Amino acid sequence: MSNEGSDEPPGGTPESTAIHALKEFRPAGRGFWADVPERDWNDWRWQLKHRITTLEQLERLLPTLTPEEHAGTRLANTKLALAITPYFFNLIDPADEHCPIRRQVIPRLEETQTAEWELADPCGEDAHSPVPGLVHRYPDRVLFLVTDRCASYCRYCTRSRLVSNATGYDFHPEFDRQIDYIAKTPAVRDVLLSGGDPLLFNDEKLEYLLSRLRAIPHVEFIRLGTRIPVFLPQRITPELCAMLKQFHPLFLSIHSNHPRELTTEVRDALGRLADAGIPLGNQSVLLRHVNDDPVVMKAHVQKLLLCRVRPYYIYQCDLIAGSAHLRASVRRGLEIMDRLRGHTTGYAVPTYVIDAPGGGGKVPVSPEYVLSRNRDRVVIRNYEGKIFEYPEATDGTPLFKAPMEIEEPEVA
Ligand SMILES: *Cc1c(COP(=O)(O)O)cnc(C)c1O
Repeated sequence: MSNEGSDEPPGGTPESTAIHALKEFRPAGRGFWADVPERDWNDWRWQLKHRITTLEQLERLLPTLTPEEHAGTRLANTKLALAITPYFFNLIDPADEHCPIRRQVIPRLEETQTAEWELADPCGEDAHSPVPGLVHRYPDRVLFLVTDRCASYCRYCTRSRLVSNATGYDFHPEFDRQIDYIAKTPAVRDVLLSGGDPLLFNDEKLEYLLSRLRAIPHVEFIRLGTRIPVFLPQRITPELCAMLKQFHPLFLSIHSNHPRELTTEVRDALGRLADAGIPLGNQSVLLRHVNDDPVVMKAHVQKLLLCRVRPYYIYQCDLIAGSAHLRASVRRGLEIMDRLRGHTTGYAVPTYVIDAPGGGGKVPVSPEYVLSRNRDRVVIRNYEGKIFEYPEATDGTPLFKAPMEIEEPEVA
């Protein structure tokens, strides 16, 4: 970053000073693993093999483990397994019980408490699966779940019913059935590979899967949903990028929630993907005491642009069983959106969505900018709260049949 030699941007307000600090790029560092040879540390298979997966490891590596975390970890393997890559573990601030990285990956006792409106399958995916491991909810695109494994497990995982197999869902996707369905369904022009994390496959397996999809003439667009660049940037090798670039147009959505996750290692990994011509988006989940703060979120979206990533969605946290302690309110989400739009680069402003409980799909929710609207005029407000009037245009003789007649709003 510029501003070398100065801790604060010139003329900084408290907010801009805080944002500036959050946007600093730092390496994750080696932490407990200082003695591990460089070659091993940078090897993604080494990172996977040395993940933290047991309470004993956690007690040894995180002496400040709280009673809630201790109890949560003891119960984790009956719900959603514990796994954290050494690389990502190093981002935890052991001195901070409320560390935003810690809250995402260390189990807590509250995970075992389920409110009555919480669900195992909060987005009703299983009901929209024509074949196991494929969710066909929208007319022209499918979600293809390729594995139940991830590099690390997010405690608020929307697919914890199947991911990590802690509940015995026994997810064994048969790619032939899923690919057959796509091949036989010409309406599907967009395939989203997710899971679990598709980048956990080795290059050969992923290349095989992508080639089979590319061989289907009506599949125009392929994308990957992955948290690997954040949990395991070592996986983003030059060989992987060279393989992926054969399959354009190929987009990739990462999942980052807090600016501290965007380390120098992550920035470099994302740069390699971007250099391979892969457009990058980010999906964040709005999480209480992680990123439910306008300053943190603004720093995060700006830092994503520095990593060549366009913020795509902010998700309201799904009603997943045992996630109440991590869910922030919709009110908070709307306040954050209101403080982004107009206040920073338009490319940095994602769409805030609620995945409708039970299976209605993603619904955008936005602060109100249209204050009133009728046949003659639209009254709008800008990001500063100033009010403007736009005289409604008359559409004249329609060239196209109007898809929908605009109704006068009903006054209650
Ligand atoms: C999110 C999602 C998609 C992709 O939605 P976009 O808005 O196109 O990114 C597709 N299918 C399912 C089931 C999804 O949940």
